[in-house]
Amino acid sequence: MTGTSRAVRTTCPYCGVGCGVIASVPRGDGSGHPVGPVAVSGDPDHPANFGRLCSKGSALGETLSLDDRLLHPLVAGRRAAWGEALDLVAERFAATVAEHGPDSVAFYVSGQLLTEDYYVANKLMKGFIGSANIDTNSRLCMASSVAGHKRAFGSDTVPGTYEDLEQADLLVLVGSNLAWCHPVLFQRVLAAKAARPEMKIVVVDPRRTQTAAAADMFLPLAPGADVALFDGLLAHLKAAGKRDARFVADHTSGVDAALAVAETASLADVAIETGLGEGELRAFYDLFAATEQVVTVYSQGVNQSSHGTDKVNAIINCHLFTGRIGQPGMGPFSVTGQPNAMGGREVGGLANQLAAHMELDNAEHRNIVQSFWHAPRMADHAGLKAVDLFRAVGEGRIKAIWIAGTNPVDSLPDADAVKAALAACPFVVVSDVVRRTDTTAFAHVLLPAAAWGEKDGTVTNSERRISRQRAFLPLPGEAKPDWWIFAQVARRMGWREAFDFASPADIFAEYAGLSGSGNDGKRDFDISGLTLDRAAYDEMTPVQWPLPVGGSGAVGEKRFFADGRFFTPDRRARFVATPIAPPASQVGKAYPLVLNTGRIRDQWHTMTRTAKTARLMGHLAEPFAEIHPDDARTYGIEAASIVELRSLCGGMLARALVTERQRRGSVFVPMHWTDQYASAGRVDALLLPNVDAVSGQPELKFTPVSIRPAAMGWHGFAVLASKPNAIPADYWALAPAARGWRLELASVKPPEDWGNYARALFGDAPGMDMLAYGDGTAGHHRFAAFKDGRLAGALFTAPEPVAAARNWLVERLGDEDISEVGRQAILAGRGGATAADPGATVCSCFGVGVNQIGAAAQGGCRTVAAIGASLRAGTNCGSCRSEIQALLNRFADSMPPQPMAAE
Ligand code: SF4
Repeated sequence: MTGTSRAVRTTCPYCGVGCGVIASVPRGDGSGHPVGPVAVSGDPDHPANFGRLCSKGSALGETLSLDDRLLHPLVAGRRAAWGEALDLVAERFAATVAEHGPDSVAFYVSGQLLTEDYYVANKLMKGFIGSANIDTNSRLCMASSVAGHKRAFGSDTVPGTYEDLEQADLLVLVGSNLAWCHPVLFQRVLAAKAARPEMKIVVVDPRRTQTAAAADMFLPLAPGADVALFDGLLAHLKAAGKRDARFVADHTSGVDAALAVAETASLADVAIETGLGEGELRAFYDLFAATEQVVTVYSQGVNQSSHGTDKVNAIINCHLFTGRIGQPGMGPFSVTGQPNAMGGREVGGLANQLAAHMELDNAEHRNIVQSFWHAPRMADHAGLKAVDLFRAVGEGRIKAIWIAGTNPVDSLPDADAVKAALAACPFVVVSDVVRRTDTTAFAHVLLPAAAWGEKDGTVTNSERRISRQRAFLPLPGEAKPDWWIFAQVARRMGWREAFDFASPADIFAEYAGLSGSGNDGKRDFDISGLTLDRAAYDEMTPVQWPLPVGGSGAVGEKRFFADGRFFTPDRRARFVATPIAPPASQVGKAYPLVLNTGRIRDQWHTMTRTAKTARLMGHLAEPFAEIHPDDARTYGIEAASIVELRSLCGGMLARALVTERQRRGSVFVPMHWTDQYASAGRVDALLLPNVDAVSGQPELKFTPVSIRPAAMGWHGFAVLASKPNAIPADYWALAPAARGWRLELASVKPPEDWGNYARALFGDAPGMDMLAYGDGTAGHHRFAAFKDGRLAGALFTAPEPVAAARNWLVERLGDEDISEVGRQAILAGRGGATAADPGATVCSCFGVGVNQIGAAAQGGCRTVAAIGASLRAGTNCGSCRSEIQALLNRFADSMPPQPMAAE
């Protein structure tokens, strides 16, 4: 803590790595409000990140503004008092339950909620309303891992720790773009490999991702073929004599049935299924067989599948067969997407489980929870999982829904059907941080929730580590924590005593007590040793569970299953036979390509926070479709043109990114864009609602689609000092810039008057001077408008995608007293030789662009370290290092030979 600021230890709210953050808050006037920007840095003492943060975490301080916040309750669009809004929610839920039964209402919550929020919502729905219709957006992320763990281990247990990834001699990454989706964990892996170059990394992914750039072996698996790959591996391990006979005999069951299925496919069959060569397969299988310390990391590429649970079990089978589990540097390891996906699993946020890893279909567990809660009406059967839940809303079976901290209109498959379902639902409550999302538009009641920086509680990361999130800002407006909102509704529904929580510490203490109730080592999740008073809760340092009463106290046991005892009735792990099966839908003549979706480095979910920071938006500023050059030729697609993608469900527009990183026959589109930032960029509108039969997780990585050029008559690029009121174009993508906005445009027909079009876009303020250039023959138009010596807006249009120095133009929004020469340069769209365009942003932390890296490479910087020393790129969070390496590889052919050190 400094003299002018106070430092608060908290946790990053983005991914499942769960990095510790120190927020340095300038001291204010005593009101609790800081007097300046909050600085954010990595917590050197947090065992997840040891001080590192990625680009998203580093930019957290830039996401705290209130301009987009929901600050007061709204009922039917008008401001209302909390009392009125809460009364209405309680009345409508109670009346719906009274008339139609408990299963006529539902909660849809989020991995963004803290454990305490989740606990209260889950208690209300499952113990008091008496339905299990509460599901979470974590269903979209890792439900197949949960189901796979439960089938194999009898419990949803992640056996290992992050240290295991560093200690492994072989790290297999399956369906995991760790470099972009879990960047700090990836940096830990790279540091381990740098210290022990003999460590091997194998990346299995249909796409050559940024993670693949660091791999010793890259296996470009055919989409959906993971089961075939790991069944083949299991058969190979048996043939190679790698069965850990004692472990398999003493601690497992079902091996023969799993082997019988795995051995039905020959190596040649597996090669056909996976699209890999027999030589590639043999090399991977031999490496796996020969290496004792193996960790297999998997995430959404495995989970988001109509056979996701089988994929998880096919991986676990190989670890059980070799006994490589529960020991340092060994084991299957699922990494979660969201900051508290694990906490949500633990607390029973999924529709098919109870709190504290107890099971809805287990009468003993139901009794434990019911008597602990003194619950009047326990749910006794599983509720509806996310996709089915919104289908039930659409069919009118669910008549009142409460959506908390998530945006299903953009994130669920068949997203236009979700929109229609909410539009028809009699009563929709949305509690959120943000006023305008594509989902809040459908709310009858909007409840303002506390955001990161304002809320207190706990989260659990991918290695079972519970960390505190601490408030360092006062609650703005009338915003309230989610746990408080749920508890207030519960009290109004008649359950005052059961929801008489005064603080998150009270909730956590109750939850910790429940985890130990009737446990005695029978269940994996036991944190009864964390029944803390408020002071101890406030001081709590990151700790891994299990932490039973009388356990080792401050430090939990690091790994599960070291003793070979699992949580099945016979305490044996179960092999699961995993037959090879195709994805739920197949490509064909009408929809010939496989659509795959996923994250990009600098965005989070539906961009409600990350789009607030210009430097994160500067990395990739519009929705894109990655397609192989051969497919681009087949479908007549030019690089950087606008393409239309369609599936059986819906359509979207995106910029074509033609690249050999993409495999033939597939197209990748990021998951992030919504109607708030693009005209037609909601990729989930295309995704079919196929789900895994066991886990209910939707297949977000395999949707048959068509692609074609969108016949645009003109393209445009604009920089704007103010957000435009309307964007009259068939395609647009808007992104914040440091002092304004950047806008990509395209349309079929030109406007009647280009000057009027530009003026309307720029805001047409009195006193605005506008320069114009037009070449009617070539179809090029340029406009630059100035007000009070500053740039108000510039627009560049052409019949083809516009070539302009985009980042240089964006920077001009900050210039004052722009000279006549400067104005002409802006109108030309380029700074000239003395003001080079940095190019598309690669390093968000230091704003270093691709052109600068190219120039440094030409100047002799041939390594990532040399680029860092010259430009600082990659020297802060490190998230861009794999991209810098890929650029250096690309530039290598065109560069002169490297001079010798002595020259
Ligand atoms: Fe946050 Fe990045 Fe750490 Fe994930 S890796 S928790 S996004 S800082």
